[in-house]
Amino acid sequence: MSREKLFNIYVGVISACGLASFLFAVANLDTSILSLSTVLLMVAALFVTSRLTLSLPHSNSYLSFADTMIFFAFIKYGGELAIIFATLEVSISCIFLIYGGFQLRKLAIPFNIASTAFSTGITYFVFTLLPHAGIGTNYGIASELITVLGVLAIVQFVFLSLFAAVFYSLKSENSVWTMWKKVCFSSSMTQIAGAGLAGIAFKLINYGDFLTLSVALAIFAIAYANYRQMIRNINESIEQAEQAEREKTEIARAKAEEVEEHARQLKNLLEKEEEITRDLRQSKQDLEYAAFHDNLTDLPNRAYLIERLNLLLQLGSEVARRYYVLFLDLSRFKNINDSLGHTIGDEVLRVVALRLRRCLRDEDTIARLGGDEFAIILNDLSSINEAKSYAFRIYDHLTQPYVIQGNKIFSDLYIGIAPFDHEQLKPEDILRDADIAMHSAKEENISVAVFDKQTRSKYLEHIRLEGDLRYAIEKNELSLHYQPLISLKGGELVGFEGLLRWHHSELGFVSPGLFIPISEDTGSIIPLTKWVLREACSQLQRWREISNEHQDLVISVNISGRHLADKSLIYDVQEALDETGLPARSLKLEITESTAMDNAERTIETLNEVSDLGVKLSIDDFGTGYSSLSYLHRLPFDTLKIDRSFVLNVGENGEDSGILQTIVSLTKNLKKEVVAEGIETEKQLSLLRDLGCDYGQGYLFSKPLPSAEMETLLYQKKAWLPDPDPASESDRLPSEISEIPHRYA
Ligand code: C2E
Ligand code: MG
Ligand code: MG
Repeated sequence: MSREKLFNIYVGVISACGLASFLFAVANLDTSILSLSTVLLMVAALFVTSRLTLSLPHSNSYLSFADTMIFFAFIKYGGELAIIFATLEVSISCIFLIYGGFQLRKLAIPFNIASTAFSTGITYFVFTLLPHAGIGTNYGIASELITVLGVLAIVQFVFLSLFAAVFYSLKSENSVWTMWKKVCFSSSMTQIAGAGLAGIAFKLINYGDFLTLSVALAIFAIAYANYRQMIRNINESIEQAEQAEREKTEIARAKAEEVEEHARQLKNLLEKEEEITRDLRQSKQDLEYAAFHDNLTDLPNRAYLIERLNLLLQLGSEVARRYYVLFLDLSRFKNINDSLGHTIGDEVLRVVALRLRRCLRDEDTIARLGGDEFAIILNDLSSINEAKSYAFRIYDHLTQPYVIQGNKIFSDLYIGIAPFDHEQLKPEDILRDADIAMHSAKEENISVAVFDKQTRSKYLEHIRLEGDLRYAIEKNELSLHYQPLISLKGGELVGFEGLLRWHHSELGFVSPGLFIPISEDTGSIIPLTKWVLREACSQLQRWREISNEHQDLVISVNISGRHLADKSLIYDVQEALDETGLPARSLKLEITESTAMDNAERTIETLNEVSDLGVKLSIDDFGTGYSSLSYLHRLPFDTLKIDRSFVLNVGENGEDSGILQTIVSLTKNLKKEVVAEGIETEKQLSLLRDLGCDYGQGYLFSKPLPSAEMETLLYQKKAWLPDPDPASESDRLPSEISEIPHRYA
């Protein structure tokens, strides 16, 4: 059965018993004992007592004077009136409570009324059993009165509180005992005090005269007022104490909240700090990674490689000699960048990195040193041959065409291999040796070269020249020599080729064949050429002023591929002409065939601009490059210079002249003029004349000479074609070779 149902049944039973008690009381009431004054007193008491209450400190209950009236009714007028009075008084109290806005539980009103009626009924039943109890009893012996009232109070309290405890227990699901202790026990005072007061009132009314009654009432009124005041004070003190307690609790709670808040903030702070530390750790790791990696290819970088080499050197030669360092250089990478753009260039580098990773082992270290240079440490090999076979494998992989964004790109590379040796003290030393080996591979035009110690000294000289060349102009070590160009038909002088000479303050003469490629590599060729242009133009302008016969002379200046690709060329040429006053037609620029064909479209464009200035153009060393005839046709050149190797190869009897003949007729067909360089013998001269070659240049006429010597020859109006008597020729011509018998020559 549900608790709700049980509760309803319980309330129903109590209500029925209460009603029965009430009806029983009404039926059995002895009306003869009731005078009008008694009835009025009772009715007045009904209203007064229900209002006359004293709330008990620390309890939900209060002292009601209704109990006093109930017990008084018992001993004075009998139990029936007590039941009626109790029932009515509870009913009126409930009405007052409802009007006072008091919220009562469901069924609380009928239950309260019924349970009071019923418990008073039970008390009445016990009252009838008591000796010396009943209407009209005087209770002369005080103990009898106390016993009767005591029993009444206990019975009334026990049943009333029991009914209430069961009611609350069914409602709240707590045990009857718990509810009795919690809600009902404290109300025992109301019955005990009520019984006490009823006894006093009974005694006073029975035995007291008017005066005694008045004094007693007055004392009671004062005591009541005092008691009320005292109770109020106690309640106030309790209230204050409770308030203080509440405030204390509130402060403690606020403090606890504050502490909690602090703890929360601290936790947040710690979490944030942890997050920051984590971020910092992460960014430190990122930074460390970035410091040792190349961000384009994600390969380790130079710094990483140096660290690793350092470690190997520390391990000692026993371990290190099983390791080999490879230096890789992509040979045509600059062209890829220039012609296809940096985006494709970058992509090629990424693919190179990928291919390297694929064709090597995990334990090998691959690093990008910068630009198109890579280095590899091959781990734990048994011999140099094993290193070589790795190098060839890399070569095969990296020279496969690259297909990027629809472009099929071919790239060549040079690989230098360096083993560890005891002369390498720093990581840079072994890297330099591998670099040297790579350079000798480049020079010999082979794919793989192994380092040897002779190349190291050559390389170190190279490095020195590279450094010294930067200061050569400032130190006045450069000069220009002039080699005449002669008309093969009439033998007259048509111009000169300006050839750069470097007289190193310590090393002596350094060959252009050695320092020009170095200056092209480093880029110093551009300032050098500017100097040459200025020097050559001003020199020819001076010579033009010597004689009217020199007005048509032309000075040729060699222009490197690096300068040709640079936008400054036109400006530099124009500047040299402007500064020296030389007419543009008196200047000729020589571009080697291989340079011209390297990026033919761009060359055509630049040379057209040069040609627009009025400056003449010559294709130098013709026959050594691989000219495309269609490009040759479009190049705006004036002269074609046959490389001296073709002239040199012409034998004493005129054999091997086929190529010369072809070049001459090709030039004629293109309606250009042709120059042969390197003419050393009269045989060569006569053959070239027979072939119809227009001009010649060579030791047979003159070696390149310093300006002063050339000027002397100009003043002397030298006959350039050789004297048929060779003895007299060697007497007359100053020899440049004898001037520079040096190992750099
Ligand atoms: P090149 O422009 O082909 O110059 C001709 C070279 O042939 C010169 O060598 C010259 O001395 C040499 N020569 C001339 N006639 C004969 C001969 O009958 N027999 C022999 N064996 N050699 C002869 P040089 O002066 O040593 O120059 C070498 C190269 O260096 C030049 O070849 C040129 O490519 C480059 N060069 C020289 N000066 C300059 C310069 O100012 N700028 C640039 N970019 N390159 C220069
Ligand atoms: Mg030349
Ligand atoms: Mg040449």
